[in-house]
Amino acid sequence: MLQTTTKKEELLKNLEKVFKNCQERAAHYDANNLFFQEDFDELKAVGYLLVSVPEEFGGYGMNLSECSELTRKLAYHAAPTALGLNMHVYWAGLSSDLWRNGDKSMEWLLKEAGKGKVFAAGHGESGNDLPVLNSTTKAEKVEGGYKFTGHKMFGSLTPVWDYLGLHGLDNSDPDNPMVIHAYMPRDSENYEIKKTWDDVMGMRATRSDDTILNGVFIPDKYIVRKLPTGFKGMDGFILGIFAWGLLGFANVYYGLAQRAVDMVLENLPKKKSISLDRPSMAYHSGIQHDVSEIILELEGIGPHLDTTAREWSQGKDYGHAWGVKIVATKCHAVEGSWRIVDRAMDIMGGYGISRKSGFERLFRDARLGKIHPSNGYLTREILAKGMLGLDLDYQPR
Ligand SMILES: Cc1cc2nc3c(=O)[nH]c(=O)nc-3n(C[C@H](O)[C@H](O)[C@H](O)COP(=O)(O)OP(=O)(O)OC[C@H]3O[C@@H](n4cnc5c(N)ncnc54)[C@H](O)[C@@H]3O)c2cc1C
Repeated sequence: MLQTTTKKEELLKNLEKVFKNCQERAAHYDANNLFFQEDFDELKAVGYLLVSVPEEFGGYGMNLSECSELTRKLAYHAAPTALGLNMHVYWAGLSSDLWRNGDKSMEWLLKEAGKGKVFAAGHGESGNDLPVLNSTTKAEKVEGGYKFTGHKMFGSLTPVWDYLGLHGLDNSDPDNPMVIHAYMPRDSENYEIKKTWDDVMGMRATRSDDTILNGVFIPDKYIVRKLPTGFKGMDGFILGIFAWGLLGFANVYYGLAQRAVDMVLENLPKKKSISLDRPSMAYHSGIQHDVSEIILELEGIGPHLDTTAREWSQGKDYGHAWGVKIVATKCHAVEGSWRIVDRAMDIMGGYGISRKSGFERLFRDARLGKIHPSNGYLTREILAKGMLGLDLDYQPR
């Protein structure tokens, strides 16, 4: 136990330094549309990729609460880096939860992650407004595995993943369509990466390119779930994706908002006004009102995030209501964080839109939080139907 504490403490100490390095490189990656390769290398070297891997497999055994804190801290310094790595942290994290609860189906992933293999997420599909629970990708049962054909988009970590966690639809029995969840090793055949991430608006350093699956064969050993389509297919694995994935996104955008607020507080005393018989715009009552509004918003997000992550980590049994809890927390965090950053832009004024301020980059990144699953539309559908006791799969959606 003593040894573990020391190991964790050492990791946290090393991360302090590496996070600062990441912050220094963030503007360069953004301006040049580059993947955060040096961040990745340094973070991997000090053990960041092992945070959610159990100690039994060589990791740090951190739960969702502890990992959320780290994700938030990294995002404060370099949000795209935190977002990209969240994909890996969430695969290992949800697999750890299952493993600790006696479900050994993902043990192979934990062993691989413990050896340093990198996992990314291949869920994004255009035209699929029910992420993970349905698919536009075709999954076809063949001898010894499945063949996947489809178009995956927004694949953060594309330059470095060893396995892409993906899913497809097996519609061979139209009365009983099934979603097949699998992991595609990098050395698989019949897929290509399409560079679609050049010149996107924000989170550029995640390098979230597309992956085209042209009948990729994935053997049975990497097929981890076969689940009914829609919300009835929500087992512990899928709920784990929601909890770890969405709370990770939420913490990324919250960390980013914290940084934006600090930037405002640092800049305001330097902002002069000819009409004020005072040293700076910090004395302007309208500005003070806006500062108080962003603080009010900020103060509400952290405790919400912390409570949801803590209750998940403690194994609190909300049953099906966990879906409502998770999407509400994500939505509150990303929409609140966006309102904060948007208002912060008003306070920053003209300087805020210049690249040298560093603020416009945060502004562009912050806007993307609302695009991630579950987006505002799906969130509100889940909240309303869930709380009204309606069938979430009821059509029309
Ligand atoms: C920064 C960021 C990182 C992400 N990382 C991941 C990840 O690692 N893994 C993952 O699974 N998901 C990731 N997501 C993606 C997420 O799962 C969603 O898929 C994504 O947010 C887009 O969903 P959408 O349905 O709104 O996209 P859509 O708008 O349906 O699709 C966007 C894509 O379709 C094309 N398109 C759509 N409509 C048109 C049209 N009318 N004309 C021409 N082209 C069109 C666009 O060019 C683009 O390629 C990420 C999202 C963000 C914002």
